Amino acid sequence: MKLITYIFSFLLILLLSSCTDTLIGDEGQAEEDNFLNYQTKTALELPFENEWYVVWGGRSVVQNQHFNNRNERYAMDILQIVNRTSFTGDGTQNEDYYCFGKRLNAPGDGKIIAMENNIEDNIPGALNRRQAPGNYIIIDHLNGEFSFMAHFKKNSIIVSIGDTIQKGQEVGKVGNSGNSTEPHLHYHLQTTSDSSNGVGLPIQFLNYYEDNVFVEIGEPVRGQLVRKN
Ligand SMILES: [Zn+2]
Repeated sequence: MKLITYIFSFLLILLLSSCTDTLIGDEGQAEEDNFLNYQTKTALELPFENEWYVVWGGRSVVQNQHFNNRNERYAMDILQIVNRTSFTGDGTQNEDYYCFGKRLNAPGDGKIIAMENNIEDNIPGALNRRQAPGNYIIIDHLNGEFSFMAHFKKNSIIVSIGDTIQKGQEVGKVGNSGNSTEPHLHYHLQTTSDSSNGVGLPIQFLNYYEDNVFVEIGEPVRGQLVRKN
């Protein structure tokens, strides 16, 4: 990784260091992970349009702040950057951030089984720890895998509990609700619909680009620019 990218990543680490950690129990718990060789069953595609930057993602605590949280071990925090920054202007309003209000899609086929859509977006830099996921959806992929997407913009989610959804279908817009210091998407896959009683699963996406290199199957990691096509 280029030095400048590394420095930039470090700055973002400070910004997003909280994310959804209080959503999850067992924080910091060290235990054997039986899923290291797990292959994602759901045919997943990146859940956004255009190019995004992976702030947290990968299989170590250095790459991924979520890694010690059992339920969201392989989670990713993703946003958009231009000229190595995530916002324009002074960054004091959500609208200053490049990803705020951008379309988010279902990463795979499934059914909406839980959601929240009515939580206020934070002022950048503030946190809402009481409602850590903020506005969110949970997708049951009907194969033992459940997708969690968090921090949506208030009232932007356009699917409902019980809806059957298709991969690539728009589900809502990026926001800054919940335990989030700036607009971004938190995404993880786990074994149960209960965020406090499941195990995070490796997330392999199909057919996308990492730093302009096409990959048929891969796990985005911190510092990469990723896009669907
Ligand atoms: Zn996160």
